[in-house]
Amino acid sequence: MFDPETTEQSDLREGRSPWHSDGVASPFRPLAQNISCDVLIVGAGISGALMAEHLTALGHDVVLIDREEPGRGSTVASTAMLLWEIDRRLGFLTDRIGFERAANIYRYSYRSVAGLAALVQEQAIACDFTLRPSLYLAAEEVGARALMDELALRHRAELPGAFLGHADLLGTFGITREGALLSPGSAEADPLRLAHGLLTRALSRGARLFHDEAVRYESLGRRAGVTLASGHSIEAGAVVLATGYVLPDIVRSDLHDIGASWALATPAQAPAALWRERALIWEASEDYLYARTTADGRIVIGGEDEDGMTDAPERAAKGPAKAAALLGKLATLRPQAEIAADMVWSGVFGRTSDGLPLIGEVPGHPRLFAAYGYGGNGITFSYMASRIIARLIAGHREPWYEDVALDRAAP
Ligand SMILES: Cc1cc2nc3c(=O)[nH]c(=O)nc-3n(C[C@H](O)[C@H](O)[C@H](O)COP(=O)(O)OP(=O)(O)OC[C@H]3O[C@@H](n4cnc5c(N)ncnc54)[C@H](O)[C@@H]3O)c2cc1C
Repeated sequence: MFDPETTEQSDLREGRSPWHSDGVASPFRPLAQNISCDVLIVGAGISGALMAEHLTALGHDVVLIDREEPGRGSTVASTAMLLWEIDRRLGFLTDRIGFERAANIYRYSYRSVAGLAALVQEQAIACDFTLRPSLYLAAEEVGARALMDELALRHRAELPGAFLGHADLLGTFGITREGALLSPGSAEADPLRLAHGLLTRALSRGARLFHDEAVRYESLGRRAGVTLASGHSIEAGAVVLATGYVLPDIVRSDLHDIGASWALATPAQAPAALWRERALIWEASEDYLYARTTADGRIVIGGEDEDGMTDAPERAAKGPAKAAALLGKLATLRPQAEIAADMVWSGVFGRTSDGLPLIGEVPGHPRLFAAYGYGGNGITFSYMASRIIARLIAGHREPWYEDVALDRAAP
């Protein structure tokens, strides 16, 4: 059911998702004067929040700005399956950049979920964070043989996982497919409470948060400046762009485009209707179906992606048909579940043609850093971005950062 009270809240999503938060305990006002800081973060979604938590832990004086309420961009629409598996298989990336480089990024992604789990625990962030296995289903042209080849590459990269053939998959998960990869080490969370919890930690260490919009960016030698819609400006040692799918004009990439995805949450299910270990389910197709469960026992299922679709009313108009399609897929996936939509929503997100994020310096704009293009495992990449950009700000660079750089070649 669409909730008319919330449909106007944002141009980035429509409908109502199951995530709830008491918000961030901070006045949220426009800037009243020009200020300076060590690092300015533009965008207070999950990417900006992870960046702010990490940089304040390192001792930086951080300012965040957002033109909307924190977390109300793609973050609140996210189904928050925190996968270490990347949208593009290790086999695809190996063909493109070679096994060692591809395996390195996959391993870093694996460690990013583990790092996020440790951070949530250390900082005692209440966000229903739970480690889950993932179940990657054969689909379309990716059958059992292709999954076994992928698993062999993952094992060579020292990544975990096991292949389930048709009979095993049917026996353990009740799912009829040619096969699947079952892998430990992923997780789920409430993305809004996660973002707000991280922001609250950053604010408690002195970070400042303002309700304002960045309208112009400039490099000033060893510093950078941002002009805001309020007319004031912020000068910083570094500026991190964490504006979600909305790329400012100074950021150009041939790899980046925008997609919309639809999701629904069922009512709370009887425990027997939920599958083994409540694994995070997704499938080996370009526009994949994805499913997880929530702490209160709902099934969340999403997919039906389309290109573009930044217009919220246009997405809302498609909502009923998308929900019907998702319910049909849920009936096939989990016939014993209550096949009903309690909440339906959609959102927009940035993605790239090679499945890797866009993280690093903005070419031609010293002291400006970007964190974009995350695709389906966006939150894992947001964590990765926060660590890479903190290292770059400190003047450290590793050769493999080139594999996620904004100016890498398109496939
Ligand atoms: C339906 C759906 C399902 C998804 N499922 C998953 C999933 O299961 N797992 C996963 O990892 N990822 C998933 N994603 C992707 C994930 O949600 C995104 O990668 C992630 O939320 C991006 O976070 P962000 O902070 O970079 O962007 P956002 O959350 O969009 O935050 C960007 C912020 O920047 C602000 N902003 C923009 N421009 C300006 C400006 N000029 N000045 C000031 N502020 C500005 C915006 O107001 C916004 O608050 C999904 C996305 C959608 C839409």
